[in-house]
Amino acid sequence: MSAINRRDLLAGSAAGLLACSPALGAAPKATSQGPGAYRTKLGDFQVTALYDGTWFLKIDDSLVRNASDADVNKALAAAFLPPNILPISFTILLINTGSKLVLIDAGTAGQVADTAGVMMANLAAAGVAPAAIDSVVISHFHPDHIDGLKTKDGDKVFANAEILVPEQEWTYWMDDGEMSKAPDRIKVYFRNARRIFGDIGKEVRRFKPGAEVAPGITSIPAFGHTPGHCAFAIASRNQSMLVMSDAVRNPYLFARHPDWQPLFDMDGPLAVKTRRQMLDRAASDRMLVEAYHFPFPASGHIVRSGKGYELIPVEWQPL
Ligand SMILES: [Zn+2]
Repeated sequence: MSAINRRDLLAGSAAGLLACSPALGAAPKATSQGPGAYRTKLGDFQVTALYDGTWFLKIDDSLVRNASDADVNKALAAAFLPPNILPISFTILLINTGSKLVLIDAGTAGQVADTAGVMMANLAAAGVAPAAIDSVVISHFHPDHIDGLKTKDGDKVFANAEILVPEQEWTYWMDDGEMSKAPDRIKVYFRNARRIFGDIGKEVRRFKPGAEVAPGITSIPAFGHTPGHCAFAIASRNQSMLVMSDAVRNPYLFARHPDWQPLFDMDGPLAVKTRRQMLDRAASDRMLVEAYHFPFPASGHIVRSGKGYELIPVEWQPL
């Protein structure tokens, strides 16, 4: 081909491309995000954060027992969030230890909010079948952490998995005497715990907080949010991650204001003590942290800031 012919051809191709380009602008817009699965290498382990969705909870001045509506809205505004709506994001962890697949918590199964319940789709996108899960470790018995264990028809979602729960959580939530004493708002959680665990009680293994729940995964007592609420430390080789569960919820409210006592914390003062201990440890030891209700992928580092703490989110990175 002569030089002039090649140039004509290239010019023709460019003209062709230009002629086509308006069609790209007319392509239909996507109606959903891509898969919410984010992987982190942790020593020999692989930790995958699985997004389950976000509940946009309308709030009023009853949300925080010891802060005013105005102060809460000021904190939301400081995080560029609209007033009177608390975004509650849900992120489940999948840990591949090399020999075991372990889930920490089980997601909402779409039963908590219409805008949540996509964890199973994201597990599939991560290439893992529910039947391949070896263990599901539960942090506490609030519905957003246990509902994903069962289908709406009451079948087990993770057919081959051992289910591990904190001993104190079981003792409290499965006790009929405690249920009869509880206010109606909390009675709902007692009934839900029976729906999930009632017929599989014999299969559920109860662990003492502090116990190793899977190779390299150790539970940490973090009481206050609920009577037996647990956090976890995941460690492999010289790397570790502090999984704070619900000890710290939305970071822009409760890391920045660790003394605030949200209604979700059953024992407000104890939850504050636990929250401060956990944030202090994370900041002092410069640990990678994860928390169930942090914005996806729900992990980062904690630094001290003013009277509270700040989350420095992880940056998306290749494996
Ligand atoms: Zn929760």
